[in-house]
Amino acid sequence: MLNGEIISNDPLKSGYFFVRFHAPEICATARAGQFVHVRIAGLGQYILRRPFSIHSTDGDVLSVVYKVVGNGTEQLSRLTPGTVCDLLGPVGNPYTPPADDEIPVLVGGGYGSAALYLLTRTSKQRGVLLLGARSEADLILHDRYRDAGFDVRLATNDGSVGYKGFVTALIPPLLEEYAGKKLRFYGCGPRPMLLALARQLIELGQPGEISLDHLMCCGVGACFACVVKVRSDDGNGWKYARTCKDGPVFDARDVWLED
Ligand SMILES: Cc1cc2nc3c(=O)[nH]c(=O)nc-3n(C[C@H](O)[C@H](O)[C@H](O)COP(=O)(O)OP(=O)(O)OC[C@H]3O[C@@H](n4cnc5c(N)ncnc54)[C@H](O)[C@@H]3O)c2cc1C
Repeated sequence: MLNGEIISNDPLKSGYFFVRFHAPEICATARAGQFVHVRIAGLGQYILRRPFSIHSTDGDVLSVVYKVVGNGTEQLSRLTPGTVCDLLGPVGNPYTPPADDEIPVLVGGGYGSAALYLLTRTSKQRGVLLLGARSEADLILHDRYRDAGFDVRLATNDGSVGYKGFVTALIPPLLEEYAGKKLRFYGCGPRPMLLALARQLIELGQPGEISLDHLMCCGVGACFACVVKVRSDDGNGWKYARTCKDGPVFDARDVWLED
């Protein structure tokens, strides 16, 4: 548990904010897919922390991109530079970095484009970002991937930009285009998108990991409030795993795919 002083906390668009904390200890070890469990200043000492994926680390500065959806994020959006929040982190099981000969294909929706960003730093190959949203207005951060040299492809439900339809529809043509290359998929976004992605990867025999978003309490594996069903270690049955400690990142083949 560490003090993180807010350096800036600015609106992006469509209810998203970009907050930067001074958090040198967390930055020193943070890996893609991990998160910080934030006690939001002013929310009350006995109110639960809120989990947010680590978007980026730049020196001693840790950034998080969040959407205002309720009391906690509303309060966070009101905090001004100089306010100190108690941060627990980095927490969770990170993504497996791509091997040197693997092209990372990042598949995101919602705040997924924030959570996948650190993978742009661990890849030797030029990666691909497939980003989906309801409409152009809901797409965030894709320019940062372009700046990092990624090939960015967009999909929107209403067709306002990119492919009209679900982001997972971009995968089959990508596989044709990259035939003979080794790809590794990474997903983060709304649960229906992740389940569709996991099913598709299994059908296509492609390796990949997804980050599950689950309501959580302690964040350190003690309370078992965030369990999800995953394949057992011998591969023949199912067991319960804690999203906060055993996840949030799981192999796509190991996740229970029923809703
Ligand atoms: C590992 C992990 C990483 C996350 N990373 C990010 C991130 O980078 N950016 C971001 O914007 N959000 C992220 N989230 C979701 C974020 O934690 C919640 O949106 C936040 O806790 C909501 O707090 P609140 O007090 O504003 O909303 P509440 O008042 O608690 O809830 C408002 C509404 O949001 C729903 N909600 C709350 N928490 C979640 C959740 N975890 N998943 C789905 N719905 C939820 C509630 O059911 C309710 O309908 C992450 C969640 C997890 C588990």
